[in-house]
Amino acid sequence: MANNDDLLKKIIAHAKEYGFIFPSSEIYDGLSAVYDYAQYGVELKNNIKQYWWRSMVQLHENIVGIDSAIFMHPAIWKASGHVDAFNDPLIDNKDSKKRYRADVLIEDYLQKIEDKLEKEIEKAKKRFDNFDETLYRQTNERAVGYQKKIDEITENFAKLMNGNDLAGIKQMIEELEITCPVSGTKNWTDVRQFNLMFSTQMGSVSEDADTIYLRPETAQGIFVNFSNVYKTGRMKIPFGIAQIGKAFRNEIVARQFIFRMREFEQMEMQFFVRPGEELKWFDFWKQERMKWHHALGIAPENYRFHDHEKLAHYANAATDIEFKFPFGFKELEGIHSRTDYDLTQHEKYSGKKLRYFDPETNESYVPYVIETSIGVDRMFLAIFSNACREEKLEDGTVRTLLCLPPVLAPVKVAVLPLVKKDGLPEKAREIMDMLKPHYLCQYDEKDAIGRRYRRQDAIGTPYCVTVDNQTMEDNTVTIRERDSMQQKRVTISELNNFLSL
Ligand code: ATP
Repeated sequence: MANNDDLLKKIIAHAKEYGFIFPSSEIYDGLSAVYDYAQYGVELKNNIKQYWWRSMVQLHENIVGIDSAIFMHPAIWKASGHVDAFNDPLIDNKDSKKRYRADVLIEDYLQKIEDKLEKEIEKAKKRFDNFDETLYRQTNERAVGYQKKIDEITENFAKLMNGNDLAGIKQMIEELEITCPVSGTKNWTDVRQFNLMFSTQMGSVSEDADTIYLRPETAQGIFVNFSNVYKTGRMKIPFGIAQIGKAFRNEIVARQFIFRMREFEQMEMQFFVRPGEELKWFDFWKQERMKWHHALGIAPENYRFHDHEKLAHYANAATDIEFKFPFGFKELEGIHSRTDYDLTQHEKYSGKKLRYFDPETNESYVPYVIETSIGVDRMFLAIFSNACREEKLEDGTVRTLLCLPPVLAPVKVAVLPLVKKDGLPEKAREIMDMLKPHYLCQYDEKDAIGRRYRRQDAIGTPYCVTVDNQTMEDNTVTIRERDSMQQKRVTISELNNFLSL
C-alpha cells in the first residue's frame, strides 16, 4: 500500500504526465508554490468554476456575481485589518535554516495523534467483535488517552492563538518535543509574526509611488461594491454577491502541491442579512455548501465539518468543510459569519454610508454577512486526488484512470475510428462535427484501440465513441463507459441524447 507521501507524488506525476498541471517557469527550475494549468487542467478548472457559478448565481435568484479588480485602494487593507493582522506565526529551525508556520507544526503534531487514535478505534472495534475483552480494554484505554491528549493540546493551543501569545506557542512546540523534519533537531528560534500580503508600487515615478497590495482574498472587492450592487441590482435582503478571482498570499510554508499556493483562485460569496438573523443563515449555508460537495458523487465520508475553536476577529461563528486529501483531512472551504465588521470598517475608513434601507421594517442598517469561501485550486486537488486510481484488470494489466465526475471532466467524449481506412476516419469526423458544438470532444486515430481507451481513461474522459465497419452499414457506434468499461451500441442519431451530461 502506498503511503501518503507516495500517493501525493503519484498524483503530482499524473497531473504533469497527462497535461493537467505543470510547475511554473519550469525551464528556469520553477518558482516555489506557483503552478500553471495545462491543456486538460484548465478545462477541469474552468468546469469547477462554472459548476460553482451556476449553483450559486444561476440557481439562486437573490445572488448576483461581480468581477472586481485585483488592485484596490490601499486603505481597503487597512480597514479590513489585513495590514495589521493578516499574519502567520513563523519559526525557524537554526540547524536546517528551514522556516515553518508555528501553528502548522502544532496542527501536524495533533494530526499524528489523531491518526493514532483512529487506528486504536479500528483495532478496538475488531477486538470487540471478536469478544477479546482484555485486549479490547487495553486498546480502548489507549484511545481514551489519545483523545484526552488531543483535547488538552487543542484547548491550550486555541488559548495561545487567541491571545496572540508567541512565547507560549514556542514553549508549546518545545514541550511537545516537536522536531524539524529536515534536521531532526529541536533548535528553534523565537516565534515571529509575518504579514502574508504581497506589495507593489503603483505609479511610474518611484518617489510618488503608492504601496498597493495584491489582494489576499476576493471578499473585500465585494464589500466595497456593496452599495453599487444593492442599488443598481435593486437587491432585497437577504441577498448575495459572488465572485471568482485570483488571490495572492506570501505563504511561509508552501508545500503539498496546489493545496497551498502563493497565487491561487477563490470562489467567494458574501450573503447580506438582517442583523440578528446571521446564525440562522450561517446554518443554512453550512448545509447548502455541504450538499453542493455531495452532489458531485464523491463518497460523503471524505467530507467533515470542523467548527473553529479560534474565531477570527471579525467572526461570531465559523466552520471549515474539510476534505480527506492524500495527506489527511484539511480545509477545503470556509464558512464564516462575519458580523457587520467589514462594512462598518469600510464606512469608517471611506466616510461613506454602507447601509441598507429595509422597506419591511422601515429601518436603515449595516447588514450582517455570511461568507462562503472555497479555493478553486484546493477543489481541483480534492477532485483530482480522489479520482486518480490504478485498477488491476482481469488480464493482470493495470489501468490508470481518473474517475472524474462527468460534469467536470475536461474531455467529455472521444471519437475513435477503429482503423484508419475504409472510410471510418471520415465517418468519425462527421460525428465529431455533430458533437463538438455541445461538448469538448477529442478525435484520436493513432495506435491500437485499447491504447486509445487507456489514454482517455487517464485524462478522465467519461465516454469513448468508436466507429467500426458496422457503422458504415447501419449508422450505429459503440459507446464505452470509462468506469465500468462496458460498451453499448447506439445509433448515431441517438448519441446526443445518450451523452447529455
Ligand atoms: P489555511 O488555514 O489553509 O491557510 P485559510 O483559513 O487562511 O486557509 P481562508 O482565508 O478562509 O483560508 O480562504 C478561503 C479558502 O481559500 C480556503 O478554504 C482555501 O480553499 C483557499 N485558500 C486559502 N489559502 C490558499 C492558498 N495559499 N492556496 C490555495 N488555496 C488557498
